Amino acid sequence: MKDAISSLVQKQRNYFYSGETKSISFRKNQLTALKEAIRNYESDILEALKKDLNKGEYEGFLTEIGFLYSELKDMIKNVDYWATPKKEKTPISSFGGKSFVYKEPYGVTLIIAPWNYPFQLAIAPLIGAIGAGNTAIIKPSELTPNTSVVIRELIATTFPEKYIAVVEGDVETSKVLLDEDVDYIFFTGSTEVGKKVMEAASKHLTPVTLELGGKSPAIIMDDANLKLAAKRIVWGKFLNAGQTCVAPDYILIHEKKRRKFLKLLTYYTKKWFGNEALKKRDYPKIINEKHVERLINLIDEEKVFYGGGFAQEQRFIEPTIMMDVTMDDPVMAEEIFGPILPIVTFEHPFEIVDIVRKRPNPLALYLFTESKDHEQFILSNLSFGGGCVNDTVMHLSTPYLPFGGVGASGMGSYHGKNSFDTFTHEKSILKQTTSFDLPIRYSQTKTSLSTL
Ligand code: NAD
Repeated sequence: MKDAISSLVQKQRNYFYSGETKSISFRKNQLTALKEAIRNYESDILEALKKDLNKGEYEGFLTEIGFLYSELKDMIKNVDYWATPKKEKTPISSFGGKSFVYKEPYGVTLIIAPWNYPFQLAIAPLIGAIGAGNTAIIKPSELTPNTSVVIRELIATTFPEKYIAVVEGDVETSKVLLDEDVDYIFFTGSTEVGKKVMEAASKHLTPVTLELGGKSPAIIMDDANLKLAAKRIVWGKFLNAGQTCVAPDYILIHEKKRRKFLKLLTYYTKKWFGNEALKKRDYPKIINEKHVERLINLIDEEKVFYGGGFAQEQRFIEPTIMMDVTMDDPVMAEEIFGPILPIVTFEHPFEIVDIVRKRPNPLALYLFTESKDHEQFILSNLSFGGGCVNDTVMHLSTPYLPFGGVGASGMGSYHGKNSFDTFTHEKSILKQTTSFDLPIRYSQTKTSLSTL
């Protein structure tokens, strides 16, 4: 395997050096080809998502395919402008010169994807890699084998492997890929594996983007619109059965509003999932037995307010709401990544800051309030990747906002122009005139050229 991967990297490097991938018209043609390929493969993608995760067609299209079309549209429309060298100011100390920033692709890039949105999270970074003029190797998740096959076929029938290739495989394959001296690594996955990726990248000083996870709170202040908050949280939490990197992980709610909010959460959960979510045709499965078992162990029956049921063999867990949860409960120890929603209460806003700051920086934070002061207080005191005020999850669906983590939830960002920038090195050039040569900088030099 090692030899085959080394030879693939070399092939891509040679192709990159041919210069073909850098032409803007070439990039646009490839992005258009990718868009057409996704369209042709739509039904295969949705079928694979159904097999791997029991994702329904609507959810599959909305979260894995539709988003890519808008990213592709944005990249195709703007790549000319984004790739144009930018003229900058020149200081007086370089009088006579001109300054430019050239937008240079890195070269051979490696994209490692997780299983929870297995198609979207493999292809969205690819849009950035192509738009910026790189070659790319994609390693899809081994835990979604049907989607992995579709990604391989789609890419193999659209691009030559010297340009874009898919290497399927598990952790060992991923490690072999990471041993290679590639020019950029874009990793999406857990914080734990993110650390290993960064360690591997350090051997070659390869730059990385790490899109990781974390415990993302949804904060409900006492002045929040509770109905909308409940509706938007239930949607964001139970989407993909809670296996979403930016899902609200837990709720922090003002003590006074707890009772009413629990009723509203239950109302919307029942409304959308019915009393028998486990029998619902399109309710997503938990990815594997290990995770089913992990999640079942997090459910404390005494604290279950709603749900709590599961079908272990079929890998389904009901949307579950847990109340009176304390920060010491097992469910509050790590990212839940499943359909369990714990509710923690606070009495004073300072407690929120204390609770969130005691944990690693979350990938997302959602604040529900009608007050500008509350908004200012939370946004200026807490560090997190990104988020929403009065909504959940939707901040990642716009190409106009950078998406990424901070601290333990990751580094770097992408989507829209940020995808282009992520896969681009900014090469600064000062072009000096040869019409004259100001003597000021040489004033310390005693030796004249004629004496050499
Ligand atoms: P994971 O870290 O286990 O695996 C991700 C990828 O890394 C897979 O392709 C896997 O084969 C590979 N991998 C696993 N172990 C490895 C190792 N030791 N060395 C090298 N490669 C290795 O993550 P996952 O379970 O697939 O995904 C779930 C996690 O991803 C959650 O924590 C979630 O929050 C996070 N996530 C983050 C984002 C984001 O955009 N920030 C998006 C989706 C998921």
